[in-house]
Amino acid sequence: MFHLSAFVAAAILATVVLVGRLDAGEPADGVQKFLVGGATIWAIADSMGDRDMGVFAGADPEVVRRYVPSGRAPSAIMVFVIQREGGIVMIDAGLGAEASRLPPGLTRAGIDPARIDLILITHMHADHIGGLLRDGGKAFPNAAVRIGRIERDFWLNDQAMAADPSRRTNFELARQVASVYSGAVGVFEFGDRLADGIEAVDAAGHTPGHTAFLLESGGEKIFFVGDIVHAAALQFPRPGLNARYDMIPGQAGPARLRLLERAAQDKLPIAGAHLPFPGIGDVAKGEGEGFVYRSWGE
Ligand SMILES: [Zn+2]
Repeated sequence: MFHLSAFVAAAILATVVLVGRLDAGEPADGVQKFLVGGATIWAIADSMGDRDMGVFAGADPEVVRRYVPSGRAPSAIMVFVIQREGGIVMIDAGLGAEASRLPPGLTRAGIDPARIDLILITHMHADHIGGLLRDGGKAFPNAAVRIGRIERDFWLNDQAMAADPSRRTNFELARQVASVYSGAVGVFEFGDRLADGIEAVDAAGHTPGHTAFLLESGGEKIFFVGDIVHAAALQFPRPGLNARYDMIPGQAGPARLRLLERAAQDKLPIAGAHLPFPGIGDVAKGEGEGFVYRSWGE
């Protein structure tokens, strides 16, 4: 537990710092629409900006400079909404800070938050669950919320919280979310089918129960990979590098490699919470153990 808590401590700090480090980008909608089989996928930014490569403090500075000479790489906090016959599913909810673009983004997409049926949570870091709350209540009054059992149990575990005072704010937020949504919260196991055509995939490492979601619709697929990548410019060519947000580094690296390998092999487009807007693109094998990412944006 002790080795874990040091990384947890770094991660809470990083989460707090993250907001400040995402410089406001050019004014843009932060909303883009894609079609995958019979599903409409809305990519909606909660925020956009550049991320300081200081979060890769453990990496060789030479390597970081080679891929990100300016020391800052484009990033974002992305939320994805799947609109299809039978209902609306949202993947994560962003940080939900006052300046969040998610509420206006949903309006722009023509989606009433009260019409969202199901919210799937990749993990319970603040930048993925903060947006579930609005003025201390539910921001999505009619949604069921599904969280991996391992993930939910970790954040509700008193010993885990006591072991890591520096991450207390995140533990408290997780508990607040669980309590506000109480009856609407349910858990899943890796491998479960959560809704028509959506499978929970083990992506543990970034957090203890970090989950990816594989959507299949009309013979097409898209892989929602959560937080396996924080800086596309650096981590696709060097997928072994962890950000300091990665709570279990010994698992985060292998999970990143495994998921990117699968995406490249099976030609699955990926949707990542911290890929630069719109957060969706294709992955191919690159040099050595590296990958090449091609954004579906401009
Ligand atoms: Zn995150």
